[in-house]
Amino acid sequence: MAWSGDPESIYSSLGVKRIITASGSTTAYGGSKTRPEIHDAMNKASQMMVSLDDLNRAASRIIADATGAEAGFVASGAAGGLVLQAAAVIAGSDPAVMDRLPDTTGMKNEIIIHKSHRFPYDQCYTSVGAKFVEIGDGRRCQPWQLEAAFTENTAAVAYLFSPFITRRAIPFPEVCEIAHSHGVPVIVDAASMLPPRSNLRRFTTEGADMVIYSGGKAVRGPQGTGILCGREDLIDAAFANAAPHQFIGRGMKVAKEEIVGLLRAIELFVDEDEEAETARYRGMAQQVVDALAEIEGLRVTLEHDEFNYLIPHAVMRFTREWRGPGRNEVYEAMKVGDPPIYLHDIFDPDELAVDPLNLDDEELEIVIRRLSEALLG
Ligand SMILES: *Cc1c(COP(=O)(O)O)cnc(C)c1O
Repeated sequence: MAWSGDPESIYSSLGVKRIITASGSTTAYGGSKTRPEIHDAMNKASQMMVSLDDLNRAASRIIADATGAEAGFVASGAAGGLVLQAAAVIAGSDPAVMDRLPDTTGMKNEIIIHKSHRFPYDQCYTSVGAKFVEIGDGRRCQPWQLEAAFTENTAAVAYLFSPFITRRAIPFPEVCEIAHSHGVPVIVDAASMLPPRSNLRRFTTEGADMVIYSGGKAVRGPQGTGILCGREDLIDAAFANAAPHQFIGRGMKVAKEEIVGLLRAIELFVDEDEEAETARYRGMAQQVVDALAEIEGLRVTLEHDEFNYLIPHAVMRFTREWRGPGRNEVYEAMKVGDPPIYLHDIFDPDELAVDPLNLDDEELEIVIRRLSEALLG
């Protein structure tokens, strides 16, 4: 085994080959390249013993500072944070109740959710014993439909912020206002909404009671961490249900050095100049646009907005004039080549994109060369 040396020699001695991830932060394709600076702090922090209570109190302060929420907690990824959100709103901090999860018989166990906000990660909520009460028809939803969904068993209203979801949900501040008038908390999944850094405070400011962000996506902290923030009583309840305590969250523990690594990553992320970061991603996406601009039937554009492309992307549109291999064929050809390249297969069936988040200059060059080959044959 080659445990030192370059990354390629470590993985090749394990028989694992390199891939190129142009799909953004995708757990299955390696997550994200962590910020190099966090590893020094993690190494050192791993060599001294501390109480997790003390460390979690410190983490709470730092996350509260970064988000403007009352308190915070380091979860095991955004998905682990969703489990803790549900546990907190359903069971609170009462050990006799927490101990019964995921059996929620006789508890307030209903989570109201827009039908359009149902998503693959929502099993994290039901795994705790939550029952969904869906509102709207998947396309649109009116405030009266939310009003009508509250019962004596309502534990929370869940709200999803994510690229490529319908923007026809009831506006978030209005959801918070209605939920709060019923004395019900609003829990938010904003896993992939960073950057922009302004989103660290936005949802809390607009009324969220708990928000989860991934620590392992563009924040580039330890891949298995999540940033949970919110109301102090709810964060206390999330912590009570989480490791090291032997309740429903015990299977999703976060090590002391991972907590330190995330806190360091948050500091680096907050301090980073967003304009310079955006300019770097923009420059990379523009190289793809320039390289493919002349290809007939393909429309390549640089996209960057607050809804779908939070990081600048190069988006390739296969127009009606396109005569080359189909969009899916190109996607597959990139995937089976050497090295395998994973493009961002956004939901539009006529589009593919390059997300520069996990690319260095050399990888970008390979992506461009291989894309030209796949498109032009
Ligand atoms: C990525 C993502 C998650 C999971 O985040 P992890 O940090 O990988 O656990 C949850 N919800 C949404 C909407 C996501 O985009």
